[in-house]
Amino acid sequence: MKHKEKKLLSYREAWRINLRALKIFWRMSPRTMLYRIIAIVWNALTPYVGIRLSALIIEELSGARSPERLRTLILATLLSAALFSLVSALLDKARRVEEGDVQWFRTDALLWGKMLELDYHISDDPETRKILSTIRQNMNGGGWGIHRVPSNFNSLLQAVLSLLGGLALTLSLFTSKVPGEAGSLTFLNSPMLILLFLAGILAATLLSSFLSTKADSYYALNSSDHNLANRLFSYFGFLGANKNLAADMRIYRQDQICKKYNSDKTGTFSSKGYFAKLARGPMGLYSTAATVVSILFLTGMVYLFVCLKAWAGAFGIGMVTQYIGAISRFSGNIGTLFSTVGSMRNNASFVKLVFDYLDIPNTMYQGSLTVEKRNDRKYEVEFRDVSFRYPGSEDYALRHVNMKFRVGERLAVVGMNGSGKTTFIKLLCRLYDPTEGTILLNGIDIRKYDYDEYISIFSVVFQDFSLTDFTLGQNVAAADAYDAKKAQECLEKAGFGERLKDLPHGLDTFLGKAFDKEGVDMSGGEQQKIALARTLYKDAPFIVLDEPTAALDPIAEAEIYSKFNEIIEDKTAIYISHRLSSCRFCDNILVFHKGDVIQQGSHDQLVTDAQGKYYELWHAQAQYYDKTATEDEQPAI
Ligand code: ADP
Repeated sequence: MKHKEKKLLSYREAWRINLRALKIFWRMSPRTMLYRIIAIVWNALTPYVGIRLSALIIEELSGARSPERLRTLILATLLSAALFSLVSALLDKARRVEEGDVQWFRTDALLWGKMLELDYHISDDPETRKILSTIRQNMNGGGWGIHRVPSNFNSLLQAVLSLLGGLALTLSLFTSKVPGEAGSLTFLNSPMLILLFLAGILAATLLSSFLSTKADSYYALNSSDHNLANRLFSYFGFLGANKNLAADMRIYRQDQICKKYNSDKTGTFSSKGYFAKLARGPMGLYSTAATVVSILFLTGMVYLFVCLKAWAGAFGIGMVTQYIGAISRFSGNIGTLFSTVGSMRNNASFVKLVFDYLDIPNTMYQGSLTVEKRNDRKYEVEFRDVSFRYPGSEDYALRHVNMKFRVGERLAVVGMNGSGKTTFIKLLCRLYDPTEGTILLNGIDIRKYDYDEYISIFSVVFQDFSLTDFTLGQNVAAADAYDAKKAQECLEKAGFGERLKDLPHGLDTFLGKAFDKEGVDMSGGEQQKIALARTLYKDAPFIVLDEPTAALDPIAEAEIYSKFNEIIEDKTAIYISHRLSSCRFCDNILVFHKGDVIQQGSHDQLVTDAQGKYYELWHAQAQYYDKTATEDEQPAI
């Protein structure tokens, strides 16, 4: 595997991106942000009360030793510590409850919602899917991305406030003078020395946090390796749990393949893998150096300076505790400040990817016309010289398609696999716009209609339709609350009536066992019937069946199509199949071939044209499936 390091963003760009993310969180829930800020202020400042009180107790012990005053101080220390932890725990709880919702669910909703808002052709684009998948990998693998922004913001604010608190308790360290009788130790009063001391603390803190951010940055810089390894792990590591693969896995011993990806030698995260190598090498070195600098220089310097001043008589022993406590927190927080700024920068390139995704513009024209709600359901659709190429494809999937159909008509679209049938439906449902030509509804270009309005007149069962693991009724109605009587009628019409009677909880039966152990796994045929019932429930004037029955045998498909044709009454139906026999009953059959509509007419007309494709296909299919079929008989396909 080649290891490619990415580049980090500039601080300015990183700051801009973090601010934009913060605004999103603020808009999502100002309350959560307020809780957050209150909790941060509280957690940053209260520890200093404890430091100050301990200093006072030690002062008292080493000075006047008044039992009265000691009692009061100890009581104050205990009570304040209890109060602070209690309030802090309450604030933390409130913050966590809110945060879980905002930080995970709503941010997820932001990402998935965008997918639904995008023009279908963009959401279907492998590039878009790749960006979304990378965003999720970043999140699940290294915890990078927009979810991380609020906690970074926490650390930043907490560090700044702690710095201010620490500073307040340390100021007197520099102003309290070593008395003259201390002799040569009066040099500790020299402003030069104080400046040198401050510069030393700053330099050591900066160096230490620079080194630890540098160690961390190896994860950010090598995120593509990290993500790939995570992807491999989440795929191969959980293969055994995949219900659909369980049988194949045993027969072909596919688990052996996984070993390669989870082995010691090749696994990215294994003890001999790439990240282990980094940890033994630069990442480990930087991290060790950060600790050495922090302990040797920083802590050493502080203790030396404070103890020397106390030794020389500038202040009492109690103040030593206060200064050391405050400076340790102070420098710890300078460290946090810099490492947070570093982490915000590291994270910014991941947040940028989220914004790149959220900013993908829709390119399809959005009309605003409402679709006439006609009681007579008189809709007419026309394809006027429509040609279409899939984005990024050189070849036309459809060429110069001209056709018209009206509500109540039955239209069949037949042709071999890959001839353009599904593409025709995708254009009709405006999942894509034609590359050339126009599609009209009641004489108006469909792009001029409001998209949601337009799409509401179609009910489509795609070849790869999907049902959810919710209840049967919710699946039929595609809604949480629904009209049970209507759902039941639709299921009966779709041929699911008998099965429905057998189900333990009727419409409330869960499909699959994901949410209920009494859920029922439906067979392929039963799922198709439920999908057909869903189509009927929507009660849209146009119904499209795009070979949802492809998994059935040809006779069963023909039966379902013709039965369906009876139950949809006055609606318009478009039937798609590569099996001509299934669509024989339609008034109007379009024959697609390599993207062209090459023939159009009824079965009886088409089958007599011995030069036509329909004739050729009809006989090819008849011969293939039923050698006894003649021209007059319906072949068994
Ligand atoms: P059918 O439904 O008749 O089997 P399709 O409409 O699915 O045929 O496909 C027509 C042509 O368009 C085929 O050559 C297919 O490879 C191509 N095609 C289908 N979907 C896409 C896509 N998303 N991107 C690029 N080409 C596609």
